[in-house]
Amino acid sequence: MYDLMKELFPICRSITGNGVRETLKKIQSIIPIGIYEVPSNTKVFDWTVPKEWNIQDAYVIDPKGKKIIDFKNSNLHVVSYSIPIHEKMSLQELKLHIHTLPEMPDVIPYLTSYYNEDWGFCMTHNEFTKLQEGEYEVMIDSTLEIGSLSYGEFLKKGETEDEFLISCYVCHPSMCNDNLSGPVLATILGKYLEKIKTKFSYRFLFIPETIGAITWLSKNENNIHKIKNGLVATCLGDSGVLTYKKTRNGDAEIDKISKYVLENSKKEFNIIDFFPLGSDERQFCSPGFNLPVGSLMRTMYGKFPEYHTSADNLDFIKPENLHDTLINYSKIISILENNEKYINLNPKCEPQLGKRGLYRQLGSQKNSEKSHLAMFWILNQSDGKNSLLDIAIKSNLDFYLIKQVTDELLENDLLKIA
Ligand code: ZN
Repeated sequence: MYDLMKELFPICRSITGNGVRETLKKIQSIIPIGIYEVPSNTKVFDWTVPKEWNIQDAYVIDPKGKKIIDFKNSNLHVVSYSIPIHEKMSLQELKLHIHTLPEMPDVIPYLTSYYNEDWGFCMTHNEFTKLQEGEYEVMIDSTLEIGSLSYGEFLKKGETEDEFLISCYVCHPSMCNDNLSGPVLATILGKYLEKIKTKFSYRFLFIPETIGAITWLSKNENNIHKIKNGLVATCLGDSGVLTYKKTRNGDAEIDKISKYVLENSKKEFNIIDFFPLGSDERQFCSPGFNLPVGSLMRTMYGKFPEYHTSADNLDFIKPENLHDTLINYSKIISILENNEKYINLNPKCEPQLGKRGLYRQLGSQKNSEKSHLAMFWILNQSDGKNSLLDIAIKSNLDFYLIKQVTDELLENDLLKIA
């Protein structure tokens, strides 16, 4: 994941343009995503797909002829979606188009102007305070033209059409936690799931944030009902603890599983209620869809000082944090895949376990006491309404012990799938 992040880091992405395509092509070399193009001016619900933005170069030259801002050094220097300009102007005029972060004077802020045609530069506040009076040359070699919005999609088919949605975005330029951590985790998770047999189908979206989610939802409205669970993957590589943001209703299977995984991780974590800001859960959980989509992050967007600045770089991410997050995504999927509901086929009083050899089998196991307990819990709770996770939570027994004992009961014809 970290190696892929290093490859994707230099690319200048935005909500449209060649940076997104280049990013998607790199991902496509690892998992077979489809790359889709939606033309500018396409109506998508209340929005319109914008013009396509591309940029070749940009700089500012000071009165002494020195390049004081150079897009080639950092693509954060240019406000995303800046219109082209090549002019000479006074410092006073230039300052109206320069953005800094005085409270973090060493970093370049990240700014966009997608829906208001304008131009601007971002720089460190320290460099900004050194600017001298005189005439500056300002150049942005960009294009804002009719083109298309690009996104990537990968469906790993399972035994059923019920889907688990994993959505991430590919629209930020060179920033790691808030942006690249999502696509790199989704890519590697997709590569892993592609090779194994699953009950559920897994749909991965690599979209520009907001407009991409709106576009995808508007094009796929007829199949939305297949999405039974989902996660928005963002901010996955910093050193903070894991944070789970609940679905809009807060009572979906993904809410229950994520809580269980975090509670059993033996590490600190946060669980927060849904709120209608943030990433693409805003669209998936809008009232017209109300999809059971949560978000598993580390430190939430906006809550780490490096957020939307040049400090959200490759040094801010630790491969072991990405790994830990991936393990937790895998645990959630593993529980989901095994979280079946069963019906006790001998529900009138307890079945006689001894004559089926189930006492003896259990007696030979180290975990026999817990296995016994699990057996009684499963038999009692398997009325077709409680899932294995419900039983694990009620009994305070490990999910995989419950699963293992359930398999033994199935072999002995004491259960059937609900
Ligand atoms: Zn962001």
